Amino acid sequence: METLILKGKPVALKIKEQLSKKISELKSKDIVPSLAAIIVGDNPASKLYVSSKAKTFSKLNCHSEIFELSSNINKSDLIEFIQQLNINSKFHGILLQLPLPQHLDEKEILETINPEKDVDGFHPINQGYIMQGKPQFIPCTPLGCLKILDYYNIETKGKEIVVIGRSNIVGKPIASLLSQNFSYGNATVTLCHTKTKDLLSNTKKADIIIAAVGVPNLINKDMIKEGAHIIDVGINRIEDASKEKGYRVVGDVNFEDVLDKAGSITPVPGGVGVMTVTMLLSNTVEAAFNQIKRK
Ligand code: NAP
Repeated sequence: METLILKGKPVALKIKEQLSKKISELKSKDIVPSLAAIIVGDNPASKLYVSSKAKTFSKLNCHSEIFELSSNINKSDLIEFIQQLNINSKFHGILLQLPLPQHLDEKEILETINPEKDVDGFHPINQGYIMQGKPQFIPCTPLGCLKILDYYNIETKGKEIVVIGRSNIVGKPIASLLSQNFSYGNATVTLCHTKTKDLLSNTKKADIIIAAVGVPNLINKDMIKEGAHIIDVGINRIEDASKEKGYRVVGDVNFEDVLDKAGSITPVPGGVGVMTVTMLLSNTVEAAFNQIKRK
């Protein structure tokens, strides 16, 4: 069987085309979707992620501002900063780049973002809406996975889906969404994690596997059913002396090994990761429209 490679780029391009029309509509009402991105400390990876997000925004004529705060900022000053952004009508979305320095409790700080500006979808209120089947902001990575399934016409209704990994930002929301009565849901979903007794027996029965684990090459061809569709969310660095940087990036699934047995698979890099920034833009545009509705 030839395995279809589920590249993220064409999906992201199609969504950006649709977003361009919405952005023009907002522009005709003098509204430019705007994101405030906060980085606390000097984490180079965080700076890289945020600047790539900013580039995507400017390419689609949207606005973003990056606020770099000292790694020594105390909890109350950071909360005060976020509260000022909450009431600043210039910004439709607020993104707090994680991880935060150790002295700051991420969960506590994330809860201070106005849920109406929580374009990352990490606020407990937005996570609760997902559980209730009335999503407002879906976290960008799960939303990107759903868009990939939709673009490549991978049916979820009535299918057995195994999600591996139960984080609040990927595993839990996608497992919840796929099990609900939506056009992209209606699957029978099993959520696996480190305490799952027999991962193999679960993955072998899956029509679709969503791996969001952070363990390189955890899933191989012996663990999947013939024709299974695989969404690989994992981003893992493994040593590779042949590369200039000394490493390469792989997913949670052994890509080469499952080729010709899987029905389809997202590559790493080039699959789900490509979608995440586009979905952030999409959520920010949505937040800007919501602002009009509230007026
Ligand atoms: P996370 O918070 O790192 O948690 C990992 C999850 O995997 C946990 O639920 C853990 O189970 C489970 N797990 C770990 N080892 C396992 C094993 N051997 N068997 C079964 N389950 C296992 O998860 P995350 O933040 O969602 O990140 C997961 C991966 O996705 C990482 O590689 C991350 O870099 C990547 N990621 C990619 C994107 C993107 O844009 N493509 C976005 C976000 C994350 P327990 O709960 O029992 O510990």
